[in-house]
Parts: sequence; structure tokens; C-alpha cells
Amino acid sequence: MREIIFIVLLFITIAIFAYSVSKIIAFFKLTKPAYPVKEFGKRIKLTIKNAFLQDKIFRNPVAGFMHALVFWGFCIILVGSIEIVIDGVTGLERSLGDLGVFYEVFIGLGDIFAYLIALFVIVFIIRRLFLNIPRLHGKELSKKNHKDALLALSFILILMLSLAGTNIFYVLMHVNDASFVGRYPISEIISPVFAGLPYETMYVIHEVNWWVHIILIFIFANVLPYSKHFHIFTSVPNVFLSRLTPLGKLPNMESVAREVKMMLNPEAAASTDPNQSTEVSRFGILDAEDFTWKNYFDSLACTQCGRCTSVCPANITGKELSPRKLFIEIRKRMKEKAPKLIKDKSFSDNKSFIRQYITEEEIWACTTCNACAKECPVNIDHPTFIIDMRRYLVMEEGSAPAPINTIFANIENNGAPWQYSSEDRLTWTEL
Ligand code: SF4
Ligand code: SF4
Repeated sequence: MREIIFIVLLFITIAIFAYSVSKIIAFFKLTKPAYPVKEFGKRIKLTIKNAFLQDKIFRNPVAGFMHALVFWGFCIILVGSIEIVIDGVTGLERSLGDLGVFYEVFIGLGDIFAYLIALFVIVFIIRRLFLNIPRLHGKELSKKNHKDALLALSFILILMLSLAGTNIFYVLMHVNDASFVGRYPISEIISPVFAGLPYETMYVIHEVNWWVHIILIFIFANVLPYSKHFHIFTSVPNVFLSRLTPLGKLPNMESVAREVKMMLNPEAAASTDPNQSTEVSRFGILDAEDFTWKNYFDSLACTQCGRCTSVCPANITGKELSPRKLFIEIRKRMKEKAPKLIKDKSFSDNKSFIRQYITEEEIWACTTCNACAKECPVNIDHPTFIIDMRRYLVMEEGSAPAPINTIFANIENNGAPWQYSSEDRLTWTEL
């Protein structure tokens, strides 16, 4: 009976999760191309450095260390959860116990991390609730964002406590059996506290902890696609898919680059790319239908940690711009417009990402310093996205702040950004 209940719950979990993810995949079908994903060797090195070794996080030694430990612990416990699923389906207990030393190391680390993560999560909850850390309280974060973060932290805390409870009562019930497998460094120290309980009570507490743990995993897996914590699945792939060109090197607009090449050398330009379409539906980014797959993936990978905003000179000096907001809003806009675009490609709700979600003032406040992109632990490239919105404003609407329009006019008239005629360029030599 236990196995049947487990299999039914597992099936429901997988079905709902597959449905939620299929909706997200359908949204990707609406996105534009970004760049080709090549150079796998470089990408693997980058993923090890930025994602698995968490090198950017350590720039803040205390909080960074705790975050990194939570990440590593989660990876180990996630693999440990595979055993729980096998146990649930087969009705066995500690089914991977035959793996010997490897099992002992893994389960032992999982036991230590369960307590450490529970401790750090309590610290994170206290920090979020009672300490006024600006990066956790930006005005772009809604009440829902805060609730979402607290709910996920509470989930993780109960997950860890129930794992610890399962281990403690497993140790108590089996420590003298031949069937006892694994090492539980902290649970073995704590377990004597409960040694006086009758065996039946220990059994019930063990079962309650085991079921709470696995049911929470099932619920959590299905809450994730609708929460910022979906980054648990997307952040490592997002690092792997990072843009590999140096920060600050803006990607050319293919259509414009082709036009320039055609002007400079029409024959060469035509012969290098004969099949390329010359049709451009829109320059830059105005709304959801202009996002590239990478823009949308970035929005799913953003942890809303606020590290980008905390180093942004525009934000620090009181401007409206918050780089974190860009990716919170991309996800929001996709969720709002993409389902309608799937049904009708020409759908319009008379709103657009620029203006309704991000104002022109925010877009033009960016200094393109790249501090945000350098700091982002999941390698999101904010300035390129901002430049794409500026490209729309300038190339489609001819709209830019007055000083920039002056520069454009000077370039057009004088061939330089300054207000001097090109004939006067060498006047300074005569002074
Ligand atoms: S964009 Fe990067 S740095 Fe900014 S909040 Fe998201 S994950 Fe954190
Ligand atoms: S590139 Fe723009 S958004 Fe990013 S930190 Fe610099 S000013 Fe802020």
C-alpha cells in the first residue's frame, strides 16, 4: 500500500511538473535567436568556476560562504533524494547502501549539510525579516517577491529538519542491526537524546519525517516553475550558456553590419552570406516578441539576489534604474503576453515592455559600466539588453535624450561627436 501511494504521488508530481515546464518551453518558441552556443570546452570551464565553485559569491566572504555551502549541500542532498525515490517505489530501506564507502561518504556529507543548511536558512530568514539589508529590499521587489523568498526558505528549512529527523530515528532503530548502512556524523551524536522512546514511537516519528520530506520535495518541485526559485534548475545551465565575448563588447546588429559591408564592398558582402534574409521586423527590443531566448532564460535564472543593483552606479546615485528589475519584469511580461501570442501571433494589448515595464528614464540612466554583469552570480548580461532597448528607441522611434540627439546630429554633420566642423579639426595646432 505504501508503495502504491508513493507511486501515485510521484506520478502526479511528474505530470504537473512536465505540464508547467512544457508551458515555459512553449514561451521559448516565441523568442528570437541570440548567439550560437559553441566552444563547449570554455563553457564547461566557466560553469565549473562560476557555478560549481561559486567564485563570484565569495566576493562577500561571510554571506558568500554560507550561500556556497547551501548550494553544495543542496547538490549532495538532491542526489541523496534519488535513494528516497527508489526506496519509495520499491518499498526497500536505504536501497543504495550496497555502494559501500562511496555511500558512506555521500550520506555522511548529506547528514552534515542537512544541519548546516538548516542553520544557515534560519540566519537567512532572520536577515530577511529583521536586518535592513538594502539589496534584499529594493523597491522593484513586490510583497509577493518577499513572500515567495520566505516561503522557499521555510520549505528548505522543513526539508532539512525532516531529513535530519529521518536520519536520527533511522540510527536509533537500526544502529545495532546488521542492516545498518551509511554514516550519520551529526545524527549519531543527537540520537541518544531520544533513546528512551519506545520502538513503535521511533518508527512513527521516522515515517512522519520521511513522508514530510518527500511530500515537500514533490510540492516544492511544482511550486518552483512559478517562483523565482526556478533558478535552482536554470542557474547552472545559464552560466553554461553565457556570452563568451568580453564584457563591454557589444554584439553587432546583423542587419546593420550587412548594410555597412554592402556599402563598403558590395561584392564581398553578397558572396559571404548569400542566403541571409535582408528582412528585419524590428530593430532592437520593444516588447515580449523581441526578447531573445537568452533574455528569457536570464529572467528564469535570475535569483533576485540584488548583487547587480547593489553595485550599479546609476542606482547608487539615486537614479530609477535597477538592473535586477529588468529581469524580474521580463519574466512578468512573458507570463502576461506569451500565452496570448501563442494563440495569436499578432496579439496586442496596447502595452509594451518599454514604458509600461521599464521607462525611458531607466533605460538612459545606464552608464554601460558592466559592473552589474561582472557581479551577477549567474552571468546575466544586463547592459547588452539595455543597449538593445536603446537601439529600438533610436532606430525605430528616433527617440533619445536631447544631449544624445545633439551627438547624433554632430556625427551626421561633422563626422565627429563635437560641435566643430571637420574643417576646423586642426585649428588647435595653430594655437
Ligand atoms: S540579475 Fe544576477 S545579480 Fe541581479 S538579481 Fe538577478 S541573479 Fe542577482
Ligand atoms: S552597466 Fe548600467 S545597469 Fe549595469 S551597473 Fe553599470 S550603470 Fe548599472
